[in-house]
Amino acid sequence: MFKALFLNNTFKDFQVVQVNANYLKLKAGYLFPEIARRIKKFNSENPDVNLIRLGIGDVTEPLPSVCREAMKLAIDEMGTAEGFRGYGPEQGYIWLRESIAKTDYSSRGCEISADEIFISDGSKCDSSNILDILGKENKIAVTDPVYPVYVDSNVMTGRTGEAYKTGEYQGLKYIPINANNGFEAQIPTEKFDLIYLCFPNNPTGAVSTKEQLAQWVEYAKKNNALILFDAAYEAFIQDESIPHSIYEIEGAKDCAIEFRSFSKNAGFTGTRCAFTVIPKSLKGKAGNEEVDLWSLWHRRQSTKFNGVSYFVQRGAEAVYSSQGQTQIQTLVNFYMGNAEIIKNKLTEAGFEVFGATNAPYAWIKTPENMSSWDFFDFLIKKGNVVGTPGSGFGAAGEGYFRLSAFNSRENVEKAMNRIIKL
Ligand SMILES: *Cc1c(COP(=O)(O)O)cnc(C)c1O
Repeated sequence: MFKALFLNNTFKDFQVVQVNANYLKLKAGYLFPEIARRIKKFNSENPDVNLIRLGIGDVTEPLPSVCREAMKLAIDEMGTAEGFRGYGPEQGYIWLRESIAKTDYSSRGCEISADEIFISDGSKCDSSNILDILGKENKIAVTDPVYPVYVDSNVMTGRTGEAYKTGEYQGLKYIPINANNGFEAQIPTEKFDLIYLCFPNNPTGAVSTKEQLAQWVEYAKKNNALILFDAAYEAFIQDESIPHSIYEIEGAKDCAIEFRSFSKNAGFTGTRCAFTVIPKSLKGKAGNEEVDLWSLWHRRQSTKFNGVSYFVQRGAEAVYSSQGQTQIQTLVNFYMGNAEIIKNKLTEAGFEVFGATNAPYAWIKTPENMSSWDFFDFLIKKGNVVGTPGSGFGAAGEGYFRLSAFNSRENVEKAMNRIIKL
């Protein structure tokens, strides 16, 4: 009888649950699946060609030895009765939070205390989960191009309308960052409540100066807005005048949440550890009542999260030892060496190249006004190199192309030689 029902295949015949229909507004995972499809097609038509992939935003170098050793020790500790640990604090172990407060904040003149730091298993989840504690009425602004997580998490939670043909969602404000404005996100003239900023930027590699960030902080304070600042790539900053944290700007503790991750600086993309800073001075409102965001996030994490594993937090802590600092600097230098090669070779070849000096991404203007996808096809066919079409990150990314510095030196050099010959 059930079989008959299924074969009948008309859902109206039986009771089914309601789904979160907001998910249906999402454009079916457009970017990376489409890239994979085109790679697959190319490979099947050209089985002998070895493609070099500079498309992914994932690190490639091995995990630093200090982190591995700390994690091994921690696992052995867990194998003893005295060293065994069960559930840890949901907000993370205090020794890790203190190391972060000291090395990432105090040393840069930012007054962030250990208990304002919440350890998590990733910035991707934190930057989307943060919406849990924020009202649906808030008006939201993102940059364009944008890290798709910010947009999609707003769509999923019903904070937008449908997508327009251009791919932009009704109800979101898109602030373009492109060559016309020097990759500077212009301060809006209207009031927005939540503003997502990511500097150094993925995908454009752009950075924000102290003066520009100060303008954002001033805007946020004037408009009672909250800045969601993603600093996942701060370790790649080479220019000493560029702030690593938004809290280097006076007043930011009253208007900004910061997301950081060990994914890119310490190669933790597969190990998983990150943190979010919620200063205790941050206020929101419920009706006319003032509420502090720290308490809400603390409550949220305590209820929905059980912390990052002990050994992974020990691995992250090792990043802050002096040896750890040297090892992550070596990693960053290696990738930035790749970025420099990409930038120099492509510039030599006549391309207009942005980014790649304070970030592991080069953002390239496609030649002869080719569309991003046409350039993708051209590059894969003629150069056998894979990158990421800029239009996949938003309408203002059209006509651009992202190449990542996350690869071996050999592959980067080979890829650049192939492109130069085109
Ligand atoms: C890689 C990346 C992160 C880090 O995400 P995790 O979940 O911590 O791995 C955060 N933001 C941006 C923009 C990124 O590209």
